[in-house]
Amino acid sequence: MHSRVERVRARMAEMGVDALLLSLCADLPWLTGYEAMPLERLTMLVLPADEVATLVVPALEAPRVKRHRELFSLRPWSETEDPVAIVAELVGARRRLAVSDRTWATFVLRLQAALPDRQWLASSRVTTPLRAVKDAAEIEALRRAGEAADRVATQLRSGDIPLIGRTEAEVSADIGRRLRAEGHQRVNFAIVGSGPNSASPHHEPGSRTIGPGEAVVCDFGGTMAGYCSDITRTVFTGPPPPEFVDLYSVLEYAQAAAVAAARVGTPCEEVDGVARSLIEGGGFGEHFIHRTGHGIGLEEHEDPYIVAGNRQPLEPGHAFSVEPGIYLAGRWGARIEDIVVATEDGPEALNAVDRGLAVVEA
Ligand code: ZN
Ligand code: ZN
Ligand code: ZN
Repeated sequence: MHSRVERVRARMAEMGVDALLLSLCADLPWLTGYEAMPLERLTMLVLPADEVATLVVPALEAPRVKRHRELFSLRPWSETEDPVAIVAELVGARRRLAVSDRTWATFVLRLQAALPDRQWLASSRVTTPLRAVKDAAEIEALRRAGEAADRVATQLRSGDIPLIGRTEAEVSADIGRRLRAEGHQRVNFAIVGSGPNSASPHHEPGSRTIGPGEAVVCDFGGTMAGYCSDITRTVFTGPPPPEFVDLYSVLEYAQAAAVAAARVGTPCEEVDGVARSLIEGGGFGEHFIHRTGHGIGLEEHEDPYIVAGNRQPLEPGHAFSVEPGIYLAGRWGARIEDIVVATEDGPEALNAVDRGLAVVEA
């Protein structure tokens, strides 16, 4: 945490930012270990470039602030005080202010009224490149979350999670329970798309009953000790027809090649390009309708994005998904997703579950 504060201060100096104002947003827990409650009472860390930080927090939530207390002083505010006025006083005459991206507009508008004639920017401009490079403790947390998600994916592939005769919503809830049983504190999503719904990448699991002879795309993840998991495996209920086997083999090859391409120094868009050109070569180019991946950490989706146009080279410690998919609308689809970390020794996949097409009979 201390080195993170130092890195942030160095970047603030570089960018001429006088104070960082962090409310909701993963920047706050990343920097202090404390997560603001998403409620109507304002929580805000005021980190001036030249002074010790202050955490302005509702008095009734102050007892929740336990960790890393040496990093900031605490300013609990009582029900009759105005937290915006407290923040404004702490900011003082400082001019260039970076406010966390997800601070509610109601607070930003009041802050801007209380602090006229300032320059405002999003805190992500300061923190994004720093947060994208994970330190050893963060990679370890991502690895543990990935291992827990792997155990659920293994249950899915082995047929331990019944599919045929259950609705997508039931299977989704089951996957969520299993993620918790494997150590996740929070389930962020559990997409289950069966039959024609497997062709909808962000399908909302619903009342459709899964039948035999169907593709089932399961994409799930949650938060474990603050860090996210995210994995996709596609299974087929019963023997898959040759056409689907063909589609899947193109996808499996493309996903593996994109993972192998994710080396330090390679631009993010090149990793996307590797998956895309192989899927195009297999005849499915128009059916790969989303980017290849997204960064992951405290948030499910964060920098770096593995997408055409992102020329940013991969750095050691970048953690991101590689998740190409092929979707034939109205018919079927498939996706394979692993979390990968770029290291000096090459790409390291944090998911190790078999990526071949699993046939489940239950
Ligand atoms: Zn997604
Ligand atoms: Zn996913
Ligand atoms: Zn993902």
